[in-house]
Amino acid sequence: MTAENTFTIQKIATISTPFNQKFGIPRQPNLSVAKGIITFEDTFDDANMLKGIDSYSHLWLLFIFHQTIDRGWKSTVKAPRLGGNSTMGVFASRSTHRPNATGMSVVKNRGLHLINGKKKLMVEGVDLVNGTPLVDIKPYLHYADSVDSATDSLNQLRPIPQREVVFENNVKPQLTEVSRRHSDFTQLVCDVLAQDPRPAYKQPLDNDDKTYKVSLYNFDISFIVKGGIVVVTQIVAL
Ligand code: SAM
Repeated sequence: MTAENTFTIQKIATISTPFNQKFGIPRQPNLSVAKGIITFEDTFDDANMLKGIDSYSHLWLLFIFHQTIDRGWKSTVKAPRLGGNSTMGVFASRSTHRPNATGMSVVKNRGLHLINGKKKLMVEGVDLVNGTPLVDIKPYLHYADSVDSATDSLNQLRPIPQREVVFENNVKPQLTEVSRRHSDFTQLVCDVLAQDPRPAYKQPLDNDDKTYKVSLYNFDISFIVKGGIVVVTQIVAL
C-alpha cells in the first residue's frame, strides 16, 4: 500500500440506535421506524456546519462498519438474500465486509434537538448498530440520487419477508410498560420481526420451534415462528 493510496478519515459523530447487536437490524434503511440520535465530535459540534440541513427531508449517512472491520474482507461474499450459499462480488453487494468497511444509508431527517444540553441530529429508518461511527453526512438530492429506471435483480428474486407479528397475552402488560418509555417500541418490534431476522436458510420455514432473541433498546425480545406467524413470547429488560 503506497502512501499516496492511503487516506486518513476521521469520525465526525457517533449514532445511537435501538440496535444493541447486528441480529435483527433490517438489511437496509427505511425498513423500520428505528430512530438514530447523532452526537457530533467536539471538532464538528458547530451549528454552522448544519446550517440549512432542515431543508432536506432525507440525509445520507456515511459510516464505518466498525463491528466487523477487524474481520477483513474477501473478493466475493455469500449473499444472504440468495439464501446464503451462492456468492457475489463484494462490489456487487452491500456487504459489511468491504475493503474500506464503508457504509451508506439514506434516512429520514428528523431535525436538530437539544438533548442533555447538546444539539443532536435526529434521524429515522436507520439500519445501524448502536455506536456506529459516522464519517460524513450529506443531503439526499432527489433529482440526482433517485433513479426511476434503476433495477435490482436481487430484490425481484427474494423480496424482504413481511410476516404477521403477534404478541402472546402474557407479554402485553410488559409491552404497555415499555411503550411508555419508548413510544415507537411496538411498531419497531413489529417492523423488525416482520422481516424475519432468522438466517436466510431458515426463513422459508413457517414452523420453527427454536426460540430467537432480538435486542432493542435495553430489552430482549424472544420470538418463535408458528404457522407462518412471528409470535413474541417474552420481553425481558436487560
Ligand atoms: N445501508 C448500508 C449500506 O448499504 O452500506 C448498510 C447495509 S448492511 C447490509 C446493513 C447491515 O449492516 C445491518 O443489518 C447490520 O447487520 C450491519 N451493521 C450495521 N451497523 C454496523 C456496524 N457498525 N458494524 C458492522 N455491521 C453493521
